[in-house]
Amino acid sequence: MDINIPVWLQNCLDNSSANGDQTEDSYQDCENQLIVEAFKFAYQLHEGQYRKSGEPYICHPVAVADLLRDLGGSAAMIAAGFLHDVVEDTEVTIEEIENRFGGEVRQLVEGVTKLSKINFKSKTEGQAENFRRMFLAMAKDIRVIVVKLADRLHNMRTLEHLPDAKRRRIALETKEIFAPLANRLGIWHLKWELEDLAFKYLESEAYRQIQQLVADKRTDREKRLKLVTETLQHRLTKAGIHCLDLSGRPKHLHSIYQKMQRQHKEFHEIYDLAALRIIVKTKEECYRALAVVHDAFLPIPGRFKDYIGLPKANRYQSLHTGVIGPWGGPLEIQIRTLEMHHIAEYGIAAHWKYKETGGSHNANLTAADEKFTWLRQLLEWQNDLKDAQEYLDSVKDNLFEDDVYVFTPKGDLVALKAGSTPIDFAYRIHTEVGNHCAGAKVNSRIVPISTPLQNGDIVDIITQKNSQPSVDCLNFARTSLAKNRIRQLYKRAHREENIARGKELLEKALARKGFENLLKSQAMQTVIEKCNYQSVEDLLAGLGHGEITLNFVLNRWRETIKSQQPLTSDSEISENVSAIAPKPRGISPITSQSSNSPIVGIEGLMYHLAGCCNPIPGEEIIGVVTRGKGIKIHRQECQNLEKVECDRLIPVSWNCDNENNVHFHTYPVKIQIETLDRVGVFKDILSRLSDRGINVRHANVKTSTAKPALIDLEIEISSCTQLEQLFSQIKKMSDIINIRRLGYVYS
Ligand code: MN
Repeated sequence: MDINIPVWLQNCLDNSSANGDQTEDSYQDCENQLIVEAFKFAYQLHEGQYRKSGEPYICHPVAVADLLRDLGGSAAMIAAGFLHDVVEDTEVTIEEIENRFGGEVRQLVEGVTKLSKINFKSKTEGQAENFRRMFLAMAKDIRVIVVKLADRLHNMRTLEHLPDAKRRRIALETKEIFAPLANRLGIWHLKWELEDLAFKYLESEAYRQIQQLVADKRTDREKRLKLVTETLQHRLTKAGIHCLDLSGRPKHLHSIYQKMQRQHKEFHEIYDLAALRIIVKTKEECYRALAVVHDAFLPIPGRFKDYIGLPKANRYQSLHTGVIGPWGGPLEIQIRTLEMHHIAEYGIAAHWKYKETGGSHNANLTAADEKFTWLRQLLEWQNDLKDAQEYLDSVKDNLFEDDVYVFTPKGDLVALKAGSTPIDFAYRIHTEVGNHCAGAKVNSRIVPISTPLQNGDIVDIITQKNSQPSVDCLNFARTSLAKNRIRQLYKRAHREENIARGKELLEKALARKGFENLLKSQAMQTVIEKCNYQSVEDLLAGLGHGEITLNFVLNRWRETIKSQQPLTSDSEISENVSAIAPKPRGISPITSQSSNSPIVGIEGLMYHLAGCCNPIPGEEIIGVVTRGKGIKIHRQECQNLEKVECDRLIPVSWNCDNENNVHFHTYPVKIQIETLDRVGVFKDILSRLSDRGINVRHANVKTSTAKPALIDLEIEISSCTQLEQLFSQIKKMSDIINIRRLGYVYS
């Protein structure tokens, strides 16, 4: 083989050929067997394939497997490292992987293959967060992401062989998606290298400058650190603390650059922040070491943080402090145990890498031990709230917890509400796609458009010129976008009818000559805006469709006319209105319009007085919106009101301010007088009425032997007071038994 085989792999290969098929029944051998088989299979499949660098392709999977081994990955993970590209790049199927290597390897390879299909092209920063979330949501097994990160790291290390445009794209993805993912998994180790490599290709000039500056200052820096480490080493030993490691912490180029950018500082200002890490054996020693540090150098107030007593939720533990170094500049110091250090460097991978059992794989390894449930982890990481931005992100995560992430056939990511169906997807792609949706394929299979989508589904919408989603889709569309669009579509189909119907309703209610002009009036424009419509057609269509009630529109109309009153003496409204000023005899319909109106509260609307109860000024009244007959004014005690729905009632009152007006109008009132049947009694009653100037419209006298006579009268009354005075006068007449007003009960 003309490739570099890592020593550990060579050992596995040697062992397996030495043992032949006669493996002892030990776990270790099984693991080696799996690794060897996976390597051989990948080697064979990638035979004849080459990377852009000219190397045989197999170098890449070997490097990925090597990285995974370094991260402490299990045999299955290492095997997945070898095999991660075979499904994508060769003829082999995922089923075959399962047959040969088992379900665990299959799951890892399948997960990585799925993630590889995602197209990140031209995504904004906001989208990047979606991708990171989606990655976590999709990878049911968190190890899939670790394999993917190892894959990406090796690709970044060999990026120089790719054309420039492709390099930039991959570097950008790495910066926006993969480095933050590594950070979230706590794998600092991968994070910084991914960041530095992305930095190198995205801002090569700045990268080179900083690289140069770091190299120039190396001697300076090493001198200073030597001075400090010697002092501390001496003091720690004197205090009886066994120090496992005491070294300068390398600052990564990208983090130096980031700090310079963020804090607008020069290189030397950042670089002077030297950093040192002390690794000791026990937790107790950490605190004692801290005391030694603070005794040796002056601590900077406010810079001490105890992440041992109060660990971060991702289990990061360490003591942080800042002191003034012997050269007079600040020095950062971290103190932790070896175990804490492993967690800080390897995050979740530390769990595999540094097992309490001492590294060798345990035969009782349970699935729960090996596989991280991504949700539990995710929740833990979310609690690691370094700053406000992280807090916001975590809130967002919780909000989006129920999202489902699916793909277009081109590999673009679409995030939808959980439970969404292809119809939601179709409308998310484009309104026209939704409006012509005829069916859907999910993962290349035709499915009913009511099928709930799953994470990672590839959704393809079948459109046809003449089809449109049925109203039934409203039952399973989950997103409001789709629901609204379907409603709109349905509404639009019946728009003409709706407009006609709305127009009819409004015209009847307003009952005006020149209704068409009125629709074009400024007042109507205001009403349209108040009702949140764009045009008069929209308003009429909404009214016809029942989206908005007639009463609602009439109320807006009333408000508008009212507010225009003082200004409109010359306006078209007032002209319009004066042309149909109330008729003296109060014969309906009348349109109420101005301060001269006898009824307050229905300005601008057509109204008439209800024939059932014949209200007169001074009595409590109420308006009822009718279909097509404007507002009917009833007495509040009218029993017919019981049948009226509340939302059709409009509060109204008599215009008492205008006495002249009140007396100018008369209102029909029906009364019934019960009297002894005496000659001339009818004439006496009539003369009382005419004395008061009360007109009689209609009279009916009923007599029968030995019974009181009943006189039904319809008279014209101008106010409640007038009616009361009339009643008391008639009651005084000697023959009168009873007098009452009709119209309470029947219409
Ligand atoms: Mn790869």
